[in-house]
Amino acid sequence: MKNRNIGINKDFVDQSLIAVSSLSNYTYCPRRLYLSQVKGIRKETSHSVAGKIEHDARRIICPQLKHKYLKLTNNKQIVEFENRVFQIIDRTMDYIRKVAFIEFPIFTPEIQFFIEELDYRLKSEEERRVQTLTNLFEMGKWNKSKIYHLLPWLVEHPVASKDLQLKGRIDQVFLEEERAIPVDIKTTPYPFISREADAVQIGAYSLLLEKVWGREVRKGQIYYSRSFLHYDVRISDELRNKVIETRNCVRRILEMTKPPPPLEGHEALKCRFCYLRTECQTETLINEEQAEVNGLCKLFTDPAPGNLDSLFMEAKVK
Ligand code: SF4
Repeated sequence: MKNRNIGINKDFVDQSLIAVSSLSNYTYCPRRLYLSQVKGIRKETSHSVAGKIEHDARRIICPQLKHKYLKLTNNKQIVEFENRVFQIIDRTMDYIRKVAFIEFPIFTPEIQFFIEELDYRLKSEEERRVQTLTNLFEMGKWNKSKIYHLLPWLVEHPVASKDLQLKGRIDQVFLEEERAIPVDIKTTPYPFISREADAVQIGAYSLLLEKVWGREVRKGQIYYSRSFLHYDVRISDELRNKVIETRNCVRRILEMTKPPPPLEGHEALKCRFCYLRTECQTETLINEEQAEVNGLCKLFTDPAPGNLDSLFMEAKVK
């Protein structure tokens, strides 16, 4: 597996390919996909900024950790090792904080709060990882090939396939028994609401990994990082078909000239957590206002007898 081509796939720059994020967006709500992709409505919220900060921090920290873990040869170095790992996190968080303050000044209080929380979580994750490593040492089971069980093999890895007409950037890929396991990190505090969309996303990454490396992917994982919850996704035939169906639906939405209707019934609960809910309402209002204007115009222009224009003309003649 390690000899396989893991470089950037040249198809990744192909603009005609559909982004995997569009599949999860569609699964969450087709209207939201339309508003963001067709209408081009972009919106930064404190949650999206938090997600960006966390992904940036992990991308910077992970290769440094891997380097440190690979150098460790025995249990006696563990205490000093943990300190060094924490220093990596401290340095990275300092850097990330400065960049985030410059990039998103209006979210300064939220950034300060989120960075403290993230720092705590990353260190907790590392404590657990070091504990696992200690156990492996004690049982005499540690060897360097185990590194990709503990830490990702690849981070933010771009994959694309013309055959699948899809492309995406996978947050992390782990290796277990020479099998790739794509992992998507979710930073949302409300993971229950997007579980179906998250599964479609991980299904699409799995199909892409199979295309690039030619080996079956049997499972993927979603990591809800704010609760340390790992959720396994089995890559079943049903999920594979759903990925392809969803991709076809996304294509259709991208060609539409009017937005799909808002969610209804049970599904409408998602609107409460949707970052475009204000814009979505505006869109509805615009449509309603337009319908009202159209209705008024019709009153004046309708050729049927009794329209306001003809009544006005009749009144004028009298
Ligand atoms: S507010 Fe609801 S209907 Fe509107 S885009 Fe968001 S999820 Fe979809």
